[in-house]
Amino acid sequence: MSEYIVDGRWTGPVVDQHIHLDRTNRYLSAIDEFVRVGGTGIILVHKPDFGNLPTNLAAYREVYSETISMAQEVRDKFSIDTGIVLGPHPVAWEHQIDSLGLKESTELHIGAANLALDFIENGEAQCLGEVGRPHYPISQDRWSAANQMLEEIMQSAAASQTSIQLHVEDNGAQTYSELSQMAVNAGLPLSKTIRHYAPADVSTDFTHGLSCTVSVGKDSVAKLLQTYTKTDAMWGMETDFLDDPRRPGAVLGPKTIPKRTNELCQSILNENDESVVEELLLNIHSNWPRELYGIDF
Ligand SMILES: [Zn+2]
Repeated sequence: MSEYIVDGRWTGPVVDQHIHLDRTNRYLSAIDEFVRVGGTGIILVHKPDFGNLPTNLAAYREVYSETISMAQEVRDKFSIDTGIVLGPHPVAWEHQIDSLGLKESTELHIGAANLALDFIENGEAQCLGEVGRPHYPISQDRWSAANQMLEEIMQSAAASQTSIQLHVEDNGAQTYSELSQMAVNAGLPLSKTIRHYAPADVSTDFTHGLSCTVSVGKDSVAKLLQTYTKTDAMWGMETDFLDDPRRPGAVLGPKTIPKRTNELCQSILNENDESVVEELLLNIHSNWPRELYGIDF
């Protein structure tokens, strides 16, 4: 028996671990939609304005503060659990090389990562991200600079005992294998190294022990069912909702996590006791996020 499963439906915590909001777009109405279908918590990830990127740390402080104030409005309006991820986006770094040059863009990026860590150490945010490396092909020079920079950022995250959400390319197990090596070199625990926009294969063979937040598109539940028993690492679910009307369908909508959680719940219930399902879903939506972000979901 489970207190959270009622007539085959999950009524417990449901957390979207990677969502962006934009005051000029759907903003709070997106959260309203999420909450109406059973959402109980979000990790709000800082959304860079690629048309107007910060060029100094004072400007970064301002845009980070804006993300923090949006999270506060979400808490005030919906009383859902809301964590915050702050950091400079690797694509911003790559774009700004063209205007600032490699040296200055890299200094700005590392400074912005350290600034985010200050906010986290002050308890104003919970995780560094999304940091990482561009997800598209770039020159060899830029690629090695991106990797060097990421390893430096991982070292700083390790020193401040913070978890990080990684934005990276999608090159299967190779990507995970490289990231796990970098995290080990930097002294960052694999459990605190969270790959965002992850494929639904959560087996350790594939993830090399990193944590991940799975982009739970249409076919993800079938793959999760094949792999969820083959890992001892933490994983969660995300939409990467962008709140950008120019890119509809580029990412998943706000209702997706509650929907996939119920799909997963029902599929596992077909072959297991309610207690098995409850344990897994409480791990995904409460215990593991608490460990990753230090928030009670
Ligand atoms: Zn994102």
